[in-house]
Amino acid sequence: MQKTLSIIKPDGVSKKLIGEVICVFESAGFRIAAMKMKWLNRAEAEGFYYVHRERPFFPELVDFMTSGPVVLMVLEGDDVIKRNREIMGATDPAEAKAGTIRARWAGSKQNNIVHGSDSEESAKFEISHFFSGIEIF
Ligand code: ATP
Ligand code: MG
Repeated sequence: MQKTLSIIKPDGVSKKLIGEVICVFESAGFRIAAMKMKWLNRAEAEGFYYVHRERPFFPELVDFMTSGPVVLMVLEGDDVIKRNREIMGATDPAEAKAGTIRARWAGSKQNNIVHGSDSEESAKFEISHFFSGIEIF
């Protein structure tokens, strides 16, 4: 069964959307295989978004991701990487399809409530960035 890393970003936590987002995932049939709440430090956020290190928005993205606690989850299901990205909606909430998490709750292109791995390769890297094998059930 495929796995993906999901993050409820600091805006999702501060807007009290943890329960809503988990409800969306479980209603979609995803199984939560691991979960923890964590306040990321700069090194953890920079390492996580390493692929974006040259982008102009990188410093602000790291500021945002370290601005408060996040909820880290490993989701499991058939084709969960792609299905989770569909459920999340486009990066920019203005472009996200109606009913998606970002269309419903995101405030901006940066403050967009959730993260989801975008490929099998990134899922593997991202899961191992935050979880050890014995934390995944
Ligand atoms: P994520 O990787 O968080 O799931 P994504 O894959 O939809 O989101 P990416 O292109 O990987 O989008 O960008 C990573 C994150 O960086 C975005 O979710 C958003 O928080 C932020 N970001 C992306 N593009 C911009 C931008 N132009 N301005 C500000 N922030 C941005
Ligand atoms: Mg991405």
